Amino acid sequence: MNDNINGLIKEDASLHKDCNLCSESSLKVGQRTDYGAVIVFRIGSSAEDSWFATLSPKTGGDPEQDFTIQLMPQAHLTHFCQVSNYPKLAENYGTAFSKVCNAMAGLMAAENKGFKVTSESKEDAVSMATYGKCTNWKEKKEHLHIKVFPFRGDIGQPYTVDSSFGRKEVHKDSGTGEEFVKMKPVRKVMIGKERFEKLANQLISLLNIK
Ligand SMILES: [Zn+2]
Repeated sequence: MNDNINGLIKEDASLHKDCNLCSESSLKVGQRTDYGAVIVFRIGSSAEDSWFATLSPKTGGDPEQDFTIQLMPQAHLTHFCQVSNYPKLAENYGTAFSKVCNAMAGLMAAENKGFKVTSESKEDAVSMATYGKCTNWKEKKEHLHIKVFPFRGDIGQPYTVDSSFGRKEVHKDSGTGEEFVKMKPVRKVMIGKERFEKLANQLISLLNIK
């Protein structure tokens, strides 16, 4: 194994003054970031074992129904491989992720009159997805952030790792001859103020039950 990997795994994760997520990482539940996100959950007792979650002010889905929760370590970790360095942080990730999923599914089910444990239709289903990526490529190396969101509408399209993406019809650009598959465009829109505040309050109470 290349010894340099240890340099990445054990990289300094202290607060970076130019990182926007580091600047949000010490905010308390209920406080708002410069971007307009609200802190809805925190877990851990020190910078080395803490995660925090925010409700994003924008969604790429339906602003009347959808929302995104973003989960971030308090420390400036830039790669998934670094989490194993802090066993309590790894443990708290499992707790944070499961709580966020529980709260999101609960809210989605409450808004869905046709909800059943096993849904007969795609429309009445509580479909969710998570997405996160990391790299040590200088240009894109950034504070880890993992998104959890309802997987439906334009956001709920098969992704490159899905077999259904591979089964999509392949088209050819008549000019360049380049191959491509079709996807619906996704545009992020602001969630209305009233709904955003209601959601933030609901999430805070669901996520912070002791
Ligand atoms: Zn950071």
